[in-house]
Amino acid sequence: MNVYDGQRIASMLRGRGYTQTDDYTDADIIILNTCAVRAKATDKVFSALGRMRTEKKPDAIMGIVGCVARESGADAFRRVPELNFVLGPQSYHKLPEILENPDTRLFNIDLGGLEKFDEMPQMDASPTVAYIPIQEGCNHCCTYCIVPYTRGREISRPYDDVVRDTIHAANTGAIEICFLGQNVNGYKYTDEDGKIYRLSDLIRSTAKLDAVKRIRFTSSYPTEMTDDLIDMFRTEPKLLPFLNIPIQSGSQNVLTKMNRPYTLDLYIDIVDKLKSARPDVQISSDFIVGFPGESDDDFEQTLEIANRIKYINSFSFKYSPRPHTAAAVMPNQIPEKIKSQRLYKLDALLNEIQREFNESCIDRELECLCEGADKTGQHTIYRTPYMQQCIVNIPADTAPQIAKIKITAANKASLRGEIVE
Ligand code: SF4
Repeated sequence: MNVYDGQRIASMLRGRGYTQTDDYTDADIIILNTCAVRAKATDKVFSALGRMRTEKKPDAIMGIVGCVARESGADAFRRVPELNFVLGPQSYHKLPEILENPDTRLFNIDLGGLEKFDEMPQMDASPTVAYIPIQEGCNHCCTYCIVPYTRGREISRPYDDVVRDTIHAANTGAIEICFLGQNVNGYKYTDEDGKIYRLSDLIRSTAKLDAVKRIRFTSSYPTEMTDDLIDMFRTEPKLLPFLNIPIQSGSQNVLTKMNRPYTLDLYIDIVDKLKSARPDVQISSDFIVGFPGESDDDFEQTLEIANRIKYINSFSFKYSPRPHTAAAVMPNQIPEKIKSQRLYKLDALLNEIQREFNESCIDRELECLCEGADKTGQHTIYRTPYMQQCIVNIPADTAPQIAKIKITAANKASLRGEIVE
């Protein structure tokens, strides 16, 4: 979501004559687009601001947008008096106001809903992978999560607006469409005639666009994996056979405390249904270890579920208490040392599963999307349908955008391959 927000902001600034620089000491405007999902991310924002306030050009405009702006509120101005603006994740469309009046201060952390989508200009050109937000906010209220506070209650964008954005992206360079939402598979829009649109309808209409070759979505909530959506994996070949369904913990006890009221049986049933719709489907997950009250036995159950589902690529974190959340004040907070030990153990298992899956891809031919040159400029990086990085030994300027690649080698982090056609 932040990548998308950053692209919209950059496009708006380009339209006003700005160009991008990698050197913030040379910038006329510095915008930190921020994430508050973990305490460490918030800390990094303020430590970066501490550096930038002394090193930036004296008259450069500097501010923060996104979830840390909403989390910190006006306190951000107290902590960093040089800030010119603090705009929440649903109010960054107000940025032009500060460009027109740089001597003022701009503060807006309102939950304005979908206004920003209408007020920001369309992007001038789409990246190859176009992120298209279809809903904003979340109603699930997991007890550890700050998102319902920073992004508000769940709202689905009008179906026609999403279709318009998707067509625009396809017409201006997109080959892959990634639908975005905090609860993306909960997308539900009812039009004036009472017709209900779901994520499966968006996938179906997008697949009809010739320029679009790949479709995916993130991030899903287990109980919103409805049968119509699962069926898309059977019927729509452009939908990639890879999706993120965060389980967070393998312990029923911990899931209840997290306010994630699904059973492990239901979760396993969803994965089975997906595999029967499309046998080559693979799953990734998010995990939180060291949630308040998590016992050794609870943690062992997380290892068990990871081993059973064989997640091929996951995001695992130590539980991080966040303001405005119920879990932050729960008893039995787990000491850092135990959290670190559990994370180390889980990561070792997830890495091993990932390495095994990558190695199982050797000799397979996979249709991959070109991402560009690697750091050396000698090779080209592709993304497989499972989002693995695959390095091909040709320079990027001769690389086709979509190519069938035979996988020749693999390790935990990436694949190597040769273009077949
Ligand atoms: S479903 Fe995801 S975004 Fe929503 S509250 Fe839970 S963790 Fe946060």
